Amino acid sequence: MSASAFSAIFAAFVVAALAWRTWLALRQARHVALNRERVPPDFAPVIPLEAHRRAADYTLDKLKLGVVESLAIDGALLIALTLGGGIAAIDAVSARLFGEGHARDLGTVFGVLIVTTVAALPFDIWRTFVIEARHGFNRTTARLFVLDMVKGMALSFVLGTPLLLAVFWLVQAAGPLWWLYTWFAWIAFTLVLVMVFPRWIAPLFNRFTPLEEGDLRRRIEALIERCGFHAKGLFVMDGSRRSSHGNAYFTGFGTNKRIVFFDTLIERLTPSEIEAVLAHELGHFARGHIPRLLAVRFALALVLLAILGWLYQEPAFYRALHLDAPHIGAVLAGFALVVPVFTFPFQPLASLIARRQEFEADAFAARHASAADLVSALAKLYRDNAATLTPDPLHSLVYDSHPPAALRIDHLRRGGAAPSHAQILP
Ligand SMILES: [Zn+2]
Repeated sequence: MSASAFSAIFAAFVVAALAWRTWLALRQARHVALNRERVPPDFAPVIPLEAHRRAADYTLDKLKLGVVESLAIDGALLIALTLGGGIAAIDAVSARLFGEGHARDLGTVFGVLIVTTVAALPFDIWRTFVIEARHGFNRTTARLFVLDMVKGMALSFVLGTPLLLAVFWLVQAAGPLWWLYTWFAWIAFTLVLVMVFPRWIAPLFNRFTPLEEGDLRRRIEALIERCGFHAKGLFVMDGSRRSSHGNAYFTGFGTNKRIVFFDTLIERLTPSEIEAVLAHELGHFARGHIPRLLAVRFALALVLLAILGWLYQEPAFYRALHLDAPHIGAVLAGFALVVPVFTFPFQPLASLIARRQEFEADAFAARHASAADLVSALAKLYRDNAATLTPDPLHSLVYDSHPPAALRIDHLRRGGAAPSHAQILP
């Protein structure tokens, strides 16, 4: 394949992905706007018209920003960095600054990361301080926003440097199968990350306090006991520092498992509703969704690394990126930017699997806690998070990792009988 053929295929995929996403967003916007004045009958008793309108306006605001952001970042910036020679330019600057060794490759990867982060910054600021604020969700201060960004960058640097250096070294020393050894390194890195996340990384961003003694704790401990589950601890996280959205999640692996509730969830749900939400999360664990998800990710990483191993020595690829030779930092950065463009046709499949797992977790919750409590918890969460109850069916089919609220509630009302990641909201 020639560099120009490669460029043409890539450009065609970029345009196709953008057109597809924009069309879906427009469909979703039209559907939500059409249904703005009418609460679906199932929800009429619990969701007032005012809250339903608020959810529609919030959804429309997010969609508009999403379309502009995807045209700017996934369109213009992506093309500028790849076919426009942006990565090659960053690599040349890095070579001047750091010489020809691995420092140059590190400089290129982090240079590209900084450029993409800075380009996305106006959108992140608009999302947090305009949209979330306008709809009454934002609690992030400017100081916290900057602090989060600095911490996030520092963390990428600290965690990314050893992994990248290992990859650069393997490319040089391990022969033609370097991508396979890289895969083993990647698996080890991911497992360590999952292990250290709850104790060392999450506390950099939030405060975790053990769930206090009382009715709620007793209920939850009884539920955990009933399900034969072992967790290292029950924690409340100060999610209210950043946003008033509520949620609950699991974290960790093996003996390091923790159950985390957002403080905003505890404030709003009754103890029996929280118990039902947790039973849903336990369902994800009981059905093995988390290790299965990890296994799929590892399999996917192997395929991608095999492709990278081939593209690395393919002149068409690095010449399309305006590189004179396959400098590993630049090739890696280019690959990371190019891959998502080719994966968009698989999105509906990933969403379909995720939705099946939600039904399984709901069925588990209905068996081990009260289905009625989960229904009322879901209704409250949809209302308080201003999640739309009237998504466009096609948009929902492609993107939603959670089944539409009406469908979920309908299944739960029928006793959780349903076709056979761990958050309860989209
Ligand atoms: Zn779930």
